[in-house]
Amino acid sequence: MTELLFQPPADPRLPEIHQILLERYGQPKTREPWDPLTQFIYSILSSRTKTDVSHEALRALRARFGTWDNLRDAPVEEIERTIGMITFPETKAPWLKTALMQITARYGELTLDFLAKYRTDKIRIWLEQFEGVGPKTSAAVVNFSTLRRKALCIDSHHLRVTQRLGLTPRADAATTEERLMRLVPPEWTAEMLDEHHALIKIHGQTLCTFAEPRCGSCPLLERCPYGTKHTRP
Ligand code: SF4
Repeated sequence: MTELLFQPPADPRLPEIHQILLERYGQPKTREPWDPLTQFIYSILSSRTKTDVSHEALRALRARFGTWDNLRDAPVEEIERTIGMITFPETKAPWLKTALMQITARYGELTLDFLAKYRTDKIRIWLEQFEGVGPKTSAAVVNFSTLRRKALCIDSHHLRVTQRLGLTPRADAATTEERLMRLVPPEWTAEMLDEHHALIKIHGQTLCTFAEPRCGSCPLLERCPYGTKHTRP
């Protein structure tokens, strides 16, 4: 007798949410991926900082130092002054300089292009050894850069929205990503995961805000435990 292999049914929640948000907000702007080192620098700058301010800081670093080798070799006080518009420049400036020096010492030159040879889980463990680099930053580097690997960058919007939707329990970024990745259809590419991150972020900035979620206007209301509980009929 032929043995039937048990296949658990695919969970439709993430694809359905993705489609509803696509219909609501339209296609997010297509990303032009940066090289992994530039994405690494940007991701360290962008922690707890608004996107436009993080871009401004990256532009300021480019204008002031020209190359990432010059940034590595600059005095930390000068780096701190240059990125003064972001949150915690006094912490991020030494993180940046130290990480760039350590990458150079370990690889012989300042690049992260060599990561393309390695498995995604190995790359993430390697990146997370640097001070200031956690799962959010390592996911951004592997998913958003030219490495284009499968990962979900869990920022504060993603944490809040997915918890309210009941997709994940209250947990840190690593646990949330691990739980959500179990719901991701196998056919989703790295680009789809990037798009999904962008849609959830837009939703978190637009309707599902921290202070005052506008559940009455939300296209996800009927599938959201938080919204259902907090919206009067
Ligand atoms: S119904 Fe409310 S809490 Fe739920 S996703 Fe929409 S805005 Fe957020």
